Amino acid sequence: MFETIDYQQDAEGIVTLTIDLKDRSMNVLTPQFTRDLAQAIERIAGDDGVRGAIITSAKDSFLAGADLKGFDALFALAREDAPAAYAQARSFSLILRRMETCGKPFAAAINGTALGGGLEICLACHYRVAANAPKAVLGLPEVQVGLLPGAGGTQRLPRLIGIEPSLPLMLQGKHVAPAKAGELGIVHRVVEPGEEVAAARQWLLESPDAEQPWDKKGFKVPGGAGAMHPKAAQTFMVGAAMVAKETRHNYPAPIAIMASVFEGTIVPMDTALKIESRYFTKLLADPVANNMVRTLFVNKQKADKLAYRPADVPKLKVQKLGILGAGMMGAGIAYVSAMAGQQVVLLDTSIEAADKGKGYSEKLLAKALDRGKLSREKADAILARIHPTTNYDDLAGCELVIEAVFENREIKAEVTARAEAVLAEDAIFASNTSTLPITGLAEASRRPERFIGLHFFSPVDKMPLVEVIVGEKTAEATIAQALDYVAAIRKTPIVVNDSRGFYTSRVFGIFTNEGIAMLAEGVNPALIENAAKFAGMPVGPLAVTDEVTLELGWKVAEQTRADLGEKYEPQAGESVIRKFVEALDRKGKRYGKGFYDYPADGPKQLWPGLAEVYPLAEEQPDAEYVAKRLLYIQALETTRCMEEGVITRAEDGDIGSIFGWGFPPHTGGTLSFIDTIGIKKFVKECERMARRHGKRFRPSKWLKERAKRGEPFHSQ
Ligand code: NAD
Repeated sequence: MFETIDYQQDAEGIVTLTIDLKDRSMNVLTPQFTRDLAQAIERIAGDDGVRGAIITSAKDSFLAGADLKGFDALFALAREDAPAAYAQARSFSLILRRMETCGKPFAAAINGTALGGGLEICLACHYRVAANAPKAVLGLPEVQVGLLPGAGGTQRLPRLIGIEPSLPLMLQGKHVAPAKAGELGIVHRVVEPGEEVAAARQWLLESPDAEQPWDKKGFKVPGGAGAMHPKAAQTFMVGAAMVAKETRHNYPAPIAIMASVFEGTIVPMDTALKIESRYFTKLLADPVANNMVRTLFVNKQKADKLAYRPADVPKLKVQKLGILGAGMMGAGIAYVSAMAGQQVVLLDTSIEAADKGKGYSEKLLAKALDRGKLSREKADAILARIHPTTNYDDLAGCELVIEAVFENREIKAEVTARAEAVLAEDAIFASNTSTLPITGLAEASRRPERFIGLHFFSPVDKMPLVEVIVGEKTAEATIAQALDYVAAIRKTPIVVNDSRGFYTSRVFGIFTNEGIAMLAEGVNPALIENAAKFAGMPVGPLAVTDEVTLELGWKVAEQTRADLGEKYEPQAGESVIRKFVEALDRKGKRYGKGFYDYPADGPKQLWPGLAEVYPLAEEQPDAEYVAKRLLYIQALETTRCMEEGVITRAEDGDIGSIFGWGFPPHTGGTLSFIDTIGIKKFVKECERMARRHGKRFRPSKWLKERAKRGEPFHSQ
């Protein structure tokens, strides 16, 4: 009868609606499901033989939220015709309102994860019972893609549990386990898995109430609401300050959520839902939500599912992995690989160094044990998979070896040859180099077609990205199977072509250099740092240079100079780095001093001596201009990477920029950033900046032609 819902009525007049989107692994909100639900509700409402209804799901999870892949049209509509978008966005909200006011009691039997619109369906039911399923979570994560819960979530959750406990759930988009949802009062009952439908049925038979508490006379929001209520007023005051601190007003969604809750909880439900829909439509029309959905959800999911993996290559399931070098990176790679079930041979020059590398996993697992995140048996099994060694023979049988020894060509060449001597012919050899071109390193290999770059980020266990680097001779099959490994360790891959600094290190370096160049121009260093953070960068360019050390920047510059000879062009800010490393002996945080001082008894401080070395210019730029300069130079360098074929897809550029070096997520990434500004305007602004700051801002002919054609990087 319905495509996405199974409708069954029993002898006692209880209808069970079982959600089941046949062609999907998980239930999501689709236009078809929305239509089916609306019709099912009308049928229940109009059938005198029906006493009430249970809503549950045929899948492991209940319903995972809206199908964001289908949001493109809605974003476009909101920009072009806001009233039409409002009507569309509101339709689902009205269906749920109809459900809760139709006179028949509805009970949600939440058998698994219920997120976003999934939880909103449950909140609109008169009764909720959740199964205590091990992996199930409940939450309203819309904020993470720049949206708000637009089907009553911002109104029903505060009315159910109070404003104060509901705000963090919506502002941070955090999930809670069923037991916690029970404690918070989001669900009425938590039962053992498999018992939820019976429990919902029991309620319908014994004590059904088809009126929501908020529709009863005299209802008050628990804990109070409104500007005149002292507790609620304080909650909003603190909330607004926290949102400003955490988002620096780059994200409109948390502000819209607060406003929707504030305004909505002092009026009746029907008006409240209108308010919510208006804020929701406003977010749909804002480029931030469109950008976040595109990059953080749709394209990231595509990358995680290896949408562009070369086809027709057998999948490689790495059983035994070799890692050369058990330092910071090797230790982290060992941990994530052992976690993914692989046997890991962790090789270093001494057994002490190899053991120390394994020690990193011991520490992380001990922490996880402490927090109750895994069992002792599981932790022991993971640790037992890591075999520290100094013996190359132990690498025999590895399908993949990742080299993470010192950043030195000779050492890398030597370990490549020694490992290959014991490896099977078809084993893949990967280098985790951060700066040395892969094609050059592959010269040390007997089979360069099986040689590839796998560039991890530090700390490996936390950073989600792996840059897969294709050398001149790397075979398609090697790319495909390296991608299989990245997916197995649950990281997000981007594929880039070989070039100095590849993609992420190259553009990251451009960002830090621009900040450092400003210092030399006499821009106030505190202004540089704060403007970067206000633009949404996680750390200012000077602080992050201290973190990776100025010494590293200096070494990379020296190496590049040696490699390029006469063709070498010094980077902006290079003279500053040289001065700090060679003359001032301030090499970075690890050495106790760099652009900042690191007092033992307090937080870091910008080095007071900076003003003597680089006196402040009389005229200072405004913070907005400093931020713009820092973001534009990164976006412009990304276009050069695209022009040169270092990256071949705009989505890789976006994903790499956010997950690789922390380009502000609200922009959707470096190329989405340009699209939001408009490519024509971006090019014009770059030309203006080139006149002020030098030719590094000059757009290429390729980019100018693209701008002339008005060709954006993304079609939506
Ligand atoms: P590290 O100094 O912490 O570790 C290097 C390890 O390699 C040491 O334990 C050392 O004993 C070992 N080693 C040296 N020569 C060896 C040999 N001949 N055989 C076996 N082991 C040997 O360095 P790291 O930060 O882990 O970096 C390793 C590689 O990863 C470098 O190429 C670096 O450029 C790259 N990388 C580093 C980062 C980062 O943030 N640190 C990020 C991405 C890539």
